Amino acid sequence: MEIKNNRLVGATFVEANAYNKTATIKPDAIIIHYTAGASGAATVKLFAAKTATTSAHFVVSEDGTITQMVDLNRKAYHAGTSSYNGRSSYNGFSIGIEISNPGYLKKIDGKYYTWWEAKKENKTPVDPSKVFTGKHRNAVTTMTYWYKYTDAQIAAVKELCKAICKAYDIKEILGHEEIAPGRKCDPGPAYPLDELRNEVLFGSNTANLSDIFKEAISKSAATSLTIGKVKVKLNFRQQPSTTAALKSSPIAANSYVYIIGKDSSGEWFNILHEISGWIDKEYIEQDNTDSDYDGWLNSDKAMLYSDQKKSRRMVSDLKTGTKFNILEQQENMFRIKAVVEGWACAKYITEQK
Ligand SMILES: [Zn+2]
Repeated sequence: MEIKNNRLVGATFVEANAYNKTATIKPDAIIIHYTAGASGAATVKLFAAKTATTSAHFVVSEDGTITQMVDLNRKAYHAGTSSYNGRSSYNGFSIGIEISNPGYLKKIDGKYYTWWEAKKENKTPVDPSKVFTGKHRNAVTTMTYWYKYTDAQIAAVKELCKAICKAYDIKEILGHEEIAPGRKCDPGPAYPLDELRNEVLFGSNTANLSDIFKEAISKSAATSLTIGKVKVKLNFRQQPSTTAALKSSPIAANSYVYIIGKDSSGEWFNILHEISGWIDKEYIEQDNTDSDYDGWLNSDKAMLYSDQKKSRRMVSDLKTGTKFNILEQQENMFRIKAVVEGWACAKYITEQK
């Protein structure tokens, strides 16, 4: 895909009714949405209608077809009241991508319904294979139900974002749910938003990350996720303090970590770091079902060592239930890979953003 003169080359252009037709913008952010509608064609019709008051630059249909509706140097009305990281009113500097998707699903008597079907007397449920169950990034615990995006949409949006990044100096790719939390929940957990921005903005493909890493990220309190590159060999601690106990052996220079939070001073980053080491068989519980993990730890006493001879202890506290993948086995020792959360000095980590 290629952007030329503020348009996606080869894409159908259907002009939206509502957008700022006089002023120009210099986009440096991309906002991902779902339409909460039944089809891409219906959304295009809706934005083009003379009564429309909202719009987006692009609509991505179920089959991955992209329709452009506003030139990329014009302000579309997709973000509404919004702020993130000290900036607000995202319409003024962002490109809006609407992905056709019904969004949040309601569960009634074991069946799942789109918001519009849920209101009807004779409801038609969603095909169960289209239901995604997951925790929203803005929610604390509850698992909720969402309509799956198609592979064609995920691929098309990724290529579209790459093309946009080539044409403009894009610094952020965010979900509407991140710039308007509480008010908006799109694109929701069914959309691989972290993978999209990590790959497109930071050149890191989280599709290659282990499932335990992905789970650690989804379980963390992170409302946004940034990749950080460690500048020096860096201590990894249990608390944001230079006197706090170490979490594991130091993180090697040039390692990548996930920044999931900061302390109030901003001098410490709460990070996720993937570690591997050797552990006694007695502390592990293997899971031979078709799970994404090879097992979990059955004791808080589990210790990770640098080698099978237990020469050096690597992690001070691996919690019961920590999931892992087995890399290697030698008699009673297993080499496992797990993800550990802890703190590191912010000044030694470059945020890839
Ligand atoms: Zn939205």
